[in-house]
Amino acid sequence: MFVIRILVVEDEVGLADAISEILRREGFMADTANDGKTGLEKALTGKFDCMILDIMLPGMNGLDVLSYLRVKEIEIPVLLLTAKSEIDDKIKGLDCGADDYLTKPFVTGELLARIRAMTRRLGTVPDINPKFGDITLELKKGELICGTGSVVLGRKEFQMMELLVSSAGQIVTKEVFADKIWNGDYEGAYNNVEVYISFLRKKLQSLKSKVQIKTRRGIGYCLEVMG
Ligand code: CA
Repeated sequence: MFVIRILVVEDEVGLADAISEILRREGFMADTANDGKTGLEKALTGKFDCMILDIMLPGMNGLDVLSYLRVKEIEIPVLLLTAKSEIDDKIKGLDCGADDYLTKPFVTGELLARIRAMTRRLGTVPDINPKFGDITLELKKGELICGTGSVVLGRKEFQMMELLVSSAGQIVTKEVFADKIWNGDYEGAYNNVEVYISFLRKKLQSLKSKVQIKTRRGIGYCLEVMG
């Protein structure tokens, strides 16, 4: 079971990053876009389960992004962010097909409650920690656990390990890593996958795990439990 992926479209970079960090700590995966056009492009990839969308954005505003998605019949749940002075926008936003809205400034608990309510409607159960062999991925803390030991994984490391663990010994190709983690940026993925795999191997070794990441040359990677 994959983690729910949330797209955060917000032009205040600090706020966008803070929101995605909060989401990540709660076991979601988050990606950000800092303008409307980029947000729309990312939403159109179909790789996100849920979207947090600010209304006031440079270039293309949040309501235009939302209208475009709904015209294209993309039914991704959308939580609109509005400033206090934009009361009319809330009504417009709901008319445009937003699922919910949140007025800025908001507190973390309020944001998470809205997100949980929206993602519950997706019918997915994200809080089962994936396991393979003697390892467990702790989704909320972003940790790789083996026995009594644990290490925190970087975001991309964690996403890669999650794909490997979820595949339960089946090969994960570089194309899949590129699609799921690098949003289809094949060049970026190809330059980085091997590096992250080597980090993950070191971490598995440091935990003395019996799980190893095997290279299937020219194809991809898979997990194996050594005897
Ligand atoms: Ca804004």
